Amino acid sequence: MTATNAEWTERYAGSLMNTFGPPKTVLVKGEGTHVWDADGREYVDLLGGIAVNALGHAHPRLVAAVTEQLQTLGHISNFFASGPQITLAERLAALLGTEARVFFTNSGTEANEAAFKLTRRTGRTRIVATEGSFHGRTMGALALTSKPAYREPFEPLPGDVVFVPYGDVAALEAAVDHDTAAVLVEPVQGEAGVIVPPRGYLPAAQRIAHENGALLWLDEIQTGVGRMGTWFAHQNPALVDAPVVPDIVTLAKGLAGGIPIGACLATHGSGKLLDPGNHGTTFGGNPVAAAAALAVLDVIEDDDLLAHATAQGERLRKAAAADPRVVETRGAGLLVGLTLTEPKAAEVVTSAQDAGFLINAATPERIRMAPPLNLADVDLDAFAAAWAGILDQAGVGA
Ligand SMILES: *Cc1c(COP(=O)(O)O)cnc(C)c1O
Repeated sequence: MTATNAEWTERYAGSLMNTFGPPKTVLVKGEGTHVWDADGREYVDLLGGIAVNALGHAHPRLVAAVTEQLQTLGHISNFFASGPQITLAERLAALLGTEARVFFTNSGTEANEAAFKLTRRTGRTRIVATEGSFHGRTMGALALTSKPAYREPFEPLPGDVVFVPYGDVAALEAAVDHDTAAVLVEPVQGEAGVIVPPRGYLPAAQRIAHENGALLWLDEIQTGVGRMGTWFAHQNPALVDAPVVPDIVTLAKGLAGGIPIGACLATHGSGKLLDPGNHGTTFGGNPVAAAAALAVLDVIEDDDLLAHATAQGERLRKAAAADPRVVETRGAGLLVGLTLTEPKAAEVVTSAQDAGFLINAATPERIRMAPPLNLADVDLDAFAAAWAGILDQAGVGA
């Protein structure tokens, strides 16, 4: 006999650490952009596992790639190499458009740990990061994350990190000097609520970093791999007004479509800063995760999902903004932020779920959506039709 939502939720509370609060529901199955909970309720998944399920759920090509790789060679350790890992590193460098070397991990925070250690090998220790940043929960990545509520219970954290206001070129000019190892920026701040900086910001950050002999490190863990309509957000002309070639790029979330993976890409020779013995991982570069990522990249290419994400993102923003209780829409492609007239994002998430749509409250007044890149018209239309009722139900006023 299968358990109900209520039964699972009670068992969850008795067996899992309470790090996430009570689960919003217990999911048992996914197909395309739809998921089902333990009580048999169906939802349109407009959050995509927080920008992870790039191809939706149970995509046949992802399932086939993972199955075939697991049947062929599942895990080997980094004493040995595998074709999928090497091919994936080459593919990522090609998408970045420059020579790059890659270190694979299993998560975003670990990709940032690798990058953080790499910056220490410059001989400098200072990192200039931004207010509102989110870079992960392990001790190093947490030191780079600005939110006091996340940091303070775990201090002391690794030091020599300074935070400057996001999107502020003058603040970077003032903070970055010849002691700076790296300037660390998210091209768009995801966790902070889809905050888009001025189009000149990343090119200026690159200039300021390089004038001071520092590395430009872009955390594209949420924004990368097609999420914003280009392979990397820093390549999107809607987001930057001049070419940017970062020294370090960290990736994770959408890269393998739901199979755990992370990657630290380093260019301009900085990919040679870590020497044998400097860093390691047991699972990172695992052939199954690498094969999954290659399948994701193939499907994005074959199905033209960069253009699709751009078009569907525009439609989704337009549909949401058709209601006057959405005062602003943010982002590009399928990383969508919506600002409400009042701080009722949590209520809106609940009423959306009641109406059969999974979305997220990034801040008290901002909704975030990060649906699969292959989001279909029918799901978008269903959301458009339901949206006003969702806001009514949540009690959002004009
Ligand atoms: C999610 C996220 C991380 C952390 O990734 P995990 O896989 O949860 O460790 C780091 N940086 C950014 C920008 C993210 O969105």
